[in-house]
Amino acid sequence: MKEFDYIIIGGGCAGLSLAYELEIHRKLENKTLAIIEPRQEYKKDKTWSFWKVIPHNFDDCVKKNWRNFSINVPAKTKHLECSNYPYQSIDSGLFYEKIIKKLKENKNIIFYKNIKEISLNNSFIFNSVPSIKTDNANLWQHFCGVEIETKNNFFDDKIINLMDFDCEQRNSVHFFYTLPYAKNKVLVETTWLSRMNDNSQKDYDAQIKGYVEKRLNIKDYKITYKEEGAIPLFYPSYEEEKNKINIGTAGGMTRLSTGYTFLNIQEHSQYIRKNIENISKAKKFEISKKYQFLDDIFLKVLETNPEMMPNIFFKMFNGTPKTVIKFLSNKSNILEDLSIILKMSKLIFIKALFN
Ligand SMILES: Cc1cc2nc3c(=O)[nH]c(=O)nc-3n(C[C@H](O)[C@H](O)[C@H](O)COP(=O)(O)OP(=O)(O)OC[C@H]3O[C@@H](n4cnc5c(N)ncnc54)[C@H](O)[C@@H]3O)c2cc1C
Repeated sequence: MKEFDYIIIGGGCAGLSLAYELEIHRKLENKTLAIIEPRQEYKKDKTWSFWKVIPHNFDDCVKKNWRNFSINVPAKTKHLECSNYPYQSIDSGLFYEKIIKKLKENKNIIFYKNIKEISLNNSFIFNSVPSIKTDNANLWQHFCGVEIETKNNFFDDKIINLMDFDCEQRNSVHFFYTLPYAKNKVLVETTWLSRMNDNSQKDYDAQIKGYVEKRLNIKDYKITYKEEGAIPLFYPSYEEEKNKINIGTAGGMTRLSTGYTFLNIQEHSQYIRKNIENISKAKKFEISKKYQFLDDIFLKVLETNPEMMPNIFFKMFNGTPKTVIKFLSNKSNILEDLSIILKMSKLIFIKALFN
């Protein structure tokens, strides 16, 4: 069976980002790479959005940039500016197309549908397939989003609504998220932070219909795209294996308090590319321990006091947006961390710390 220098298991966001990063930095001129990906075809299946706090390779796949965002709880709204770090949305369809086209130019890169088709001996493996099940024991961010188009211009396409908590909470944490791509085109997403231990939150279609028709007051619209997903708000655990690195969600690249993963995947890819010649000896790349610690406390508060979370998120944005964005994107310094932490209800966080 054919052997390869590198094997990437899973040609999704992390696997393809890494392959592309290696290819454009000419690390695959004299090395072979197999990418194992079972899907039959690549088509748009996700919209990756984030504050652009670092450069990445996919500016040409950005659907839209915004410099303003809002957050609301019942009867209160904050309008905030993010010119320093625009909020970007990447169309996964464009992302897949760009990467596949580039990778096809290199004969050293071969796609396979099944790992059984190749030999794993003597390869360095990058694995992006998490070994986790949707269970009741852990917190998840689960959501469903639809893109809708209206006949007439309806939306202010200069501002996104990051979190609208003015909705049913059902003893969990629930918000709507709205990205206006144009004055007549918007992505509306219903998002839950919960254990997913029953299906009572999964009536996504009804939630979105209610929000669009009653809250946004839009009656005449058509749905042009739908995406659904669940992001684990815990780190998958693996035994360390020589010659294997986990990447993407499997590699702990999700920021647990927010679910943001895309830019961490890009940083991880850059790190691997810089160290590829000596990758088996490179230090493990991970989200800094500081954020792991703070997110752990944050999620404990979220689990024990879900009813307080809308106001906690709202208060977090009392600080300058630049500081909060840096904090939520793992780029804050200690003074910025403190300025956020001091805005929180201390007692409740201290209790969570000692629990
Ligand atoms: C719908 C959705 C929207 C998201 N939106 C955002 C966002 O806005 N911002 C953000 O930062 N993060 C977002 N995330 C989180 C995260 O960025 C994505 O989940 C991202 O795709 C993770 O990349 P990945 O490579 O780890 O996983 P994936 O992109 O899911 O890639 C894994 C790949 O492995 C393949 N595979 C599965 N089983 C096997 C197998 N047995 N062998 C080989 N291959 C296999 C799959 O087909 C897939 O292509 C979102 C997640 C989802 C699900």
